[in-house]
Amino acid sequence: MSDPRDYKHDLSSDQKPVDESTARPYLSVQFACCGVYQRIYRDRDGQSYHGRCPKCGKPVRFAVGQGGTDSRFFIVR
Ligand SMILES: [Zn+2]
Repeated sequence: MSDPRDYKHDLSSDQKPVDESTARPYLSVQFACCGVYQRIYRDRDGQSYHGRCPKCGKPVRFAVGQGGTDSRFFIVR
């Protein structure tokens, strides 16, 4: 199943893990389309996270917003 919709979630900008090699915050995302996991990193502008399914290329975007969830693991369907 492929869903072309762009998924957006409000995320708090704090309390996210930071990749030690890139010093960039990231989210852990499971792409349900292909059953694979992928880290997606915060954009340089700090306003959103962009990623892509490593298998089918399905794009995903998470917006950073105050009052958002502190969760750092997401499932993209
Ligand atoms: Zn996929």
